[in-house]
Amino acid sequence: MQEQGTISIHTENIFPVIKKFLYSDNEIFLRELVSNAVDASQKIKRLSSLGQFAGEVGDLIVDVKFDKEAKTITISDHGIGMTAEEIKKYINQIAFSGATEFMEKFKEANDANEIIGRFGLGFYSAFMVADKVEIQSLSYQEGAIPAHWTCDGSTSYEISEGTRTTRGTDVILHINDDSAEFLSQHRLQEILDKYAKFLPITIHFGTKSTSEPDGEDEEGKPKYKSVEVANVINNTNPAWTKAPSELKDEDYLAFYRELYPYSMDEPLFWIHLNVDYPFNLTGILYFPKIKNELEVQRNKIKLYSRQVFITDEVKDIVPEFLMLLHGVIDSPDIPLNVSRSFLQADSNVKKINNYITKKVADKLQEIFKSDRKGFEEKWNDIGLFIKYGMLSDDKFAEKANEFCLVKNTDNESFTIKEYYEKVRDIQVDKDGNIVYLYTSDIAQQDGFISTAKSKGYEVLVLDGPLDTHFAAYLEQKGGEKVQLKRVDSDVIDKLIQKDEKVELTLSEEESKKAADVFEKSIGRADMKVEVDALHAEELPVSVTIDEFMRRMKDMAKTGGGMGFYGTLPDNYKVTVNGNHPLVKRIVESDVEEGEKLAKQAFDLALLSRGLLTGADLTSFVKRSVEMI
Ligand code: ADP
Repeated sequence: MQEQGTISIHTENIFPVIKKFLYSDNEIFLRELVSNAVDASQKIKRLSSLGQFAGEVGDLIVDVKFDKEAKTITISDHGIGMTAEEIKKYINQIAFSGATEFMEKFKEANDANEIIGRFGLGFYSAFMVADKVEIQSLSYQEGAIPAHWTCDGSTSYEISEGTRTTRGTDVILHINDDSAEFLSQHRLQEILDKYAKFLPITIHFGTKSTSEPDGEDEEGKPKYKSVEVANVINNTNPAWTKAPSELKDEDYLAFYRELYPYSMDEPLFWIHLNVDYPFNLTGILYFPKIKNELEVQRNKIKLYSRQVFITDEVKDIVPEFLMLLHGVIDSPDIPLNVSRSFLQADSNVKKINNYITKKVADKLQEIFKSDRKGFEEKWNDIGLFIKYGMLSDDKFAEKANEFCLVKNTDNESFTIKEYYEKVRDIQVDKDGNIVYLYTSDIAQQDGFISTAKSKGYEVLVLDGPLDTHFAAYLEQKGGEKVQLKRVDSDVIDKLIQKDEKVELTLSEEESKKAADVFEKSIGRADMKVEVDALHAEELPVSVTIDEFMRRMKDMAKTGGGMGFYGTLPDNYKVTVNGNHPLVKRIVESDVEEGEKLAKQAFDLALLSRGLLTGADLTSFVKRSVEMI
């Protein structure tokens, strides 16, 4: 029998599309062909277990070989095989999915999902790297005749009787000159490691040498000999395919190492995902320690479809903030090989997004509830992640609001609600605003922190990369009338303005004079001087920086605010305490002495917040020495 024919008309339209758009990555031809081989092997298993195939299933190993001389790569399986008719139908009419038929036939099988055709156009990806493809196949059906199919990538093919004597299929690729790179042990191993590492049927790729015990030598020492053994590519039973009840912590940790052999850190905890309605999804997500860098830790989640690796760019499948997690997601319901925009619009992808977000929030909540102390200890490693989630995803924020922690300068932790309760009666100003004081730098703002504490106030530590945004979040969602003010954004009595009125002991004239002397001695346009009536025991001079402007600038820096603010200079305010004896003295001194004292007091204020540097610092030191 020898037959020639033309592949159905669909091909002519689809072929260039496959070549150009669907597969930008040539190497995936191997993924497609190996997974076809795996599918065919699983089908024979299923047929056997359904009693539809009475023969010997045998060792279902998929073998990948290459021949540099002959320029071929061969993928062989012991699956169900194909008759000539089936090749014509399944391979030639590519728009027609063979698996659909298979499904129709075995609808009763409750696990049938796993054998639905995965990629539709998979086989033809072979022509990206081969200018001729051959199939040698023998069907499992009784009395089947082996078939041999050859095609050069055009729409015509030849089919004749084949030579295969055992059940299964060989796909032989005659590699084209442009793709010679694939005729290499190293390259093929690399591709198989990437895509086939967790396939459910054992994959062999040639052999490798290893040593095995070989008796003893004359002195009774063990001898070894070098042997060639099959080079096994995959673990057919990765952790995520098992039931959580079968797995111990060690198993999860071992699987983590299997996924990331080069990772130094252990994950903090993990979530085993498992849904089958309304979509199918399994996987394990690990929480790594998240340091202060959000960028470097991305793209660690690997996406699989029925144990076939698809990609580690899960950008559109997983919500942005969850990209900081590590691990595996496996879902046959995620449309593969389609364009990004399509993926974003896909309703399954949206559902998957919501599901994962919810699971992650639930897990965090569970840990928080069952082991609050442990949760607090882990906070430094997960806080940034949680805040990122809250700021970028409203649904997550709703849940995380209950377990998100804030810490004060005494390293005590509170939930957002607890903190509100703690300070609401004390840090309330005359207009009923509840003022959360915070520091972005404990060391640098120490003076302001201790002043606040001496008033009986609390100071939160918000020193992470997202905390400017988080401060804004707390104002919106952290409780009614909450305001956040950095401790150095004004003098304390202005930050939380109480009803009491402090009288100014200076006369109006003296007060004006004080302002003049300070302005003159400071001599800086970016510093506005204000003489205020503060308590006499407060510092004579404070240099503060307005909360609003500073926050806008910070946001512009971390990419959240408007660019305009990023270009503004820092705007400092110099508050002179009109009730301080030193200020009184300055007003009463002669001009020269007054300016010297004013300058000294101002420099001290700068010094206390680390702003006194360079020549200013040198002249301050000199002046101080003279004065003592
Ligand atoms: P899909 O796998 O998505 O159905 P392919 O183009 O990769 O699309 O394959 C088309 C069909 O050809 C498969 O559904 C299957 O019926 C058949 N086929 C491909 N490779 C093999 C194989 N190694 N053994 C048996 N059948 C195969």
